[in-house]
Amino acid sequence: MFTIDKYIVAESLEQAFELNKNRRNTIIGGMLWLKMGRKKIGTAIDLSALGLNSIDEDEDSFRIGCMCTLREIETHEGLNNYFGCSLAKSVENIVGVQMRNLATIGGSIYSRFGFSDILTVLLALDTYVELYSGGIVTLEKYLGMPLDNDILVSIIIKKDSRKILYSSYRLSATDFPVLTCAVSNKGNKWFTAHGARPMKAFLNVFELSSSPDDDEINNIISNIKDRTIFGTNMRAGSEYRKTLAGVLTKRNIEAILNGGNYAD
Ligand SMILES: Cc1cc2nc3c(=O)[nH]c(=O)nc-3n(C[C@H](O)[C@H](O)[C@H](O)COP(=O)(O)OP(=O)(O)OC[C@H]3O[C@@H](n4cnc5c(N)ncnc54)[C@H](O)[C@@H]3O)c2cc1C
Repeated sequence: MFTIDKYIVAESLEQAFELNKNRRNTIIGGMLWLKMGRKKIGTAIDLSALGLNSIDEDEDSFRIGCMCTLREIETHEGLNNYFGCSLAKSVENIVGVQMRNLATIGGSIYSRFGFSDILTVLLALDTYVELYSGGIVTLEKYLGMPLDNDILVSIIIKKDSRKILYSSYRLSATDFPVLTCAVSNKGNKWFTAHGARPMKAFLNVFELSSSPDDDEINNIISNIKDRTIFGTNMRAGSEYRKTLAGVLTKRNIEAILNGGNYAD
């Protein structure tokens, strides 16, 4: 159980940032992860009055405010049209609708969970994290940064016409994933992200010819498996995860080459 001494609805990001400098204070999203711990929170800082709960689309990008829920992402028409439902697919197994109605994108990405579905799919897209103090950084860079007291303001996904597919493997629906796999493609350039390794999602970038044969695809998959570290936990061993990564990656590459996406 966690405890909260004081609760403040922040009136500005500046106020929230200043309050969050005190290590006893904590930004709260949907509080679903926080409630699993035993943190003794001095002041809980609520960002919900700052208008950060919208998904805005313009010609170049989508901007998702940190207080948007996973359910809002799952059901957003613009995101589903542009990314062929891959974002929806990435969150559909996260417990249930009630939970996804509460879990925020800010809490999900700030935490950089080793098991994260949404982190995996966003890593295979041209995604940026907007920080209050740290400015805009690529999601890949953010993954390597420490869990500090900056505020994650929004997630920006560029519309660069990538095709993307997402899949995960779970021992049972709604459990934490054994492995997550997103594959995206733009021209000859391909991106794969593997998460729940059981470590934070990891990105590989490579090229394939315009009509790759089986040997070319198998060769790339073998390189990806060599470059990516897979570990063992109660859900699966490293060798099993490595094999699974090859299977899910190949299926997604072939499906993209065959023109498939979830909107079909
Ligand atoms: C039982 C359970 C099962 C789950 N299963 C899965 C799963 O299968 N796949 C998956 O991908 N995820 C899973 N999750 C994670 C879930 O989807 C959310 O990512 C998680 O709950 C965090 O979101 P939240 O809004 O609840 O964050 P909170 O619990 O409110 O916050 C989490 C952390 O983020 C910080 N924080 C929140 N917002 C911000 C911000 N804007 N700026 C800076 N820091 C911030 C908080 O201070 C805290 O440290 C699961 C969670 C639970 C509790």
